[in-house]
Amino acid sequence: MILATDLDGTFLGGDPSQKTELYQLINNHPSFQLVFVSGRGLASILPLFEEAFMPSPHYIISDVGATVVHGYSLQPVEPIQSLIEEKWPGREKINSALECVKGLRPQDVPQQRRCSFYYDDKTDLHQLRLVAEELHCDLIISAGKYADILPKGVNKGSSLRMLATQYGFSDDQILVAGDTFNDLSLFETGYKGVVVGNAESGLQEVTMHLPDVYRARKDGAGGILEAMQYFSFIRPLRA
Ligand SMILES: [Mg+2]
Repeated sequence: MILATDLDGTFLGGDPSQKTELYQLINNHPSFQLVFVSGRGLASILPLFEEAFMPSPHYIISDVGATVVHGYSLQPVEPIQSLIEEKWPGREKINSALECVKGLRPQDVPQQRRCSFYYDDKTDLHQLRLVAEELHCDLIISAGKYADILPKGVNKGSSLRMLATQYGFSDDQILVAGDTFNDLSLFETGYKGVVVGNAESGLQEVTMHLPDVYRARKDGAGGILEAMQYFSFIRPLRA
C-alpha cells in the first residue's frame, strides 16, 4: 500500500503508543510506501527524522503541494517540480499585490513556491480572493486563521496525483490521511481516505458526501491504523 499522509495532527498526532504501533508497522513492511504530505516547508520536516521509530518517507510533498522531493536524496522529483515552478509568480510580486489587503501578517516559516499569512477579523477575504485570482494563484483558508497563496491548481491532492501517475501507483492501493481543511484536496482525488478523529469539523462536513472516505474514531496515528484495518490493508488489530 501507499500511505500518503498529512503530518501535524495526523501522522504525528494521536496517542503515543498508537504512533509507535503505526511507525513500527510501516518499518516492518518494506512493501509499504510512505509519502509525507504536509503544509510545512521542507526545512521544518527534516528534524522529524530524528524522532524515535520515525519511518523514512519515499517521497515528501511539502509546502501544501508546491514542493515534491525524493525522501532519501531530498532532490526534486522532476518534471513535477519544474511544472509547479512555472506557475509561480514569485514572493516579491505577491507581497506587493497584497499590500492593499488589511490584517495580513506573514508567517515566519521556511517555505518555497508558497506564501503563508495569518489573517484576522479585519481581513476582507473576498478582496484577498480577488487579488489571488489576479495573480493567477490559488488561495487556501485554513483553521480560521491561515491564508496560503499557492501556484494555480497546485495543492496536496494535485501533487499526489502527479506522483501517483509518474510512478504508476495503483489507485486502489493508496490511502490518504488528514485532519484540516488544507487536506481536502487529498480526499477529492478519489483515493481511499481517512479523516482522523481529531479533524476540524469543517473537514468532517465537506468530506461527508465523498465515497471511500472513512471517518475514524481515534485521533491521528490511531485513526490511520483504524482505516488501514477498515480498508483491509492490514489484518484486524487486537482490541
Ligand atoms: Mg494537519
